[in-house]
Amino acid sequence: MTSHPNKVQVLCRIRPFLKDETVDNTISTEGDKTIKVQNHRDPTKELHYTFDACFDSKASQKNVYFPYVKNLVDSVFEGQSSTIFCYGVTGAGKTFTIQGDDLHLGIIPRAMMQIFANGNARNIIYPIKMSYYEVFKENVYDLLRERDSGPGLPIREDSNRRTFVAGLKEELLTSFEEFKKVFNTAAKRRRTASTRLNANSSRSHAVLMIKICSKGNSDNIIYEGQLNLIDLAGSEDNRKTDNNRERMKESTAINQSLFVLGKVIEALNSGAVSFSYFVKSRIPYRDSKMTRILQDSLGGGSKSMMIVNIAPGESFLQDTQKTLNYATKAREVVNKDRVFERVMHSADSNSRKRSADFASNNGYN
Ligand code: ADP
Ligand code: MG
Repeated sequence: MTSHPNKVQVLCRIRPFLKDETVDNTISTEGDKTIKVQNHRDPTKELHYTFDACFDSKASQKNVYFPYVKNLVDSVFEGQSSTIFCYGVTGAGKTFTIQGDDLHLGIIPRAMMQIFANGNARNIIYPIKMSYYEVFKENVYDLLRERDSGPGLPIREDSNRRTFVAGLKEELLTSFEEFKKVFNTAAKRRRTASTRLNANSSRSHAVLMIKICSKGNSDNIIYEGQLNLIDLAGSEDNRKTDNNRERMKESTAINQSLFVLGKVIEALNSGAVSFSYFVKSRIPYRDSKMTRILQDSLGGGSKSMMIVNIAPGESFLQDTQKTLNYATKAREVVNKDRVFERVMHSADSNSRKRSADFASNNGYN
């Protein structure tokens, strides 16, 4: 097990104005690390926020992926746990960034391509395992199974003290095509509801979890890496969404879990950061399902990245400022590297499959 301090990276991305939006210049990037935004309380003043990287509306999916995300995916081949989550109000571009569409592949399909394209070179042992679940009103539901409205699945800890959702289905995957089929079906099960802000507003946090075993340098070592790609529910102030009672209840659960996430981050920043699990017990991970699941991603044994999505324009200014303040706290969080490995057993050795031509077949490079 290796260990050294490791900051949570925070990236910020401004989406372009959409067709029916009034274009203004209330927000822009300044250089590649700073966001400049008009103060919503005093339009004559500007606020500056600095992150690890900032992207303006012209940035492509590739501009986000290759310089920043690719490394995190690479480290999963060496037994790391990596987590990327998108945070922001509904309509700010979270799903576009993490998932994308057929013409603008987001992080999920790119990461999966990278995994299958590098499989042999990085000694991946196939099949890899995929789970996909959502947290909706503080319940965890499996997106790989038909929808049920029961109490949801419990969250537990494994022998490495990594949290996991008990009873989740795991799909075994050996190709990108298999992944695409499973993912597309599952993504349709996500709970979405129409609100004033976005006709397809996501009311749940969605977590795609990929587990990858690979052979280590020495003969009998197996790395067990894990990649979590998370599309958080909208962080907006629910008073704006003009919701009915059911929607308000959902909003309360969403705001509560993101509020706890903020508290966890604050606790970590206030000096509670430590490599000891004893100290971690003072951080309120257990106060929401999301933070319990993200325990290893925030101050734990994982590399993590928060991508803050921002909608441009005056109408979003207040939310934008809140989002940027929230993200600024997250930037101070320190993680440690932890590599999970175990001794190889016989079941590992005969399951390797080839995916050699994958990269060229899919135009990935
Ligand atoms: P969220 O998931 O945060 O609610 P979406 O990802 O659904 O937001 O984005 C809202 C709308 O803006 C969608 O129509 C999406 O295609 C578009 N969009 C978001 N980000 C970008 C971008 N960087 N470039 C082009 N269109 C974008
Ligand atoms: Mg969305």
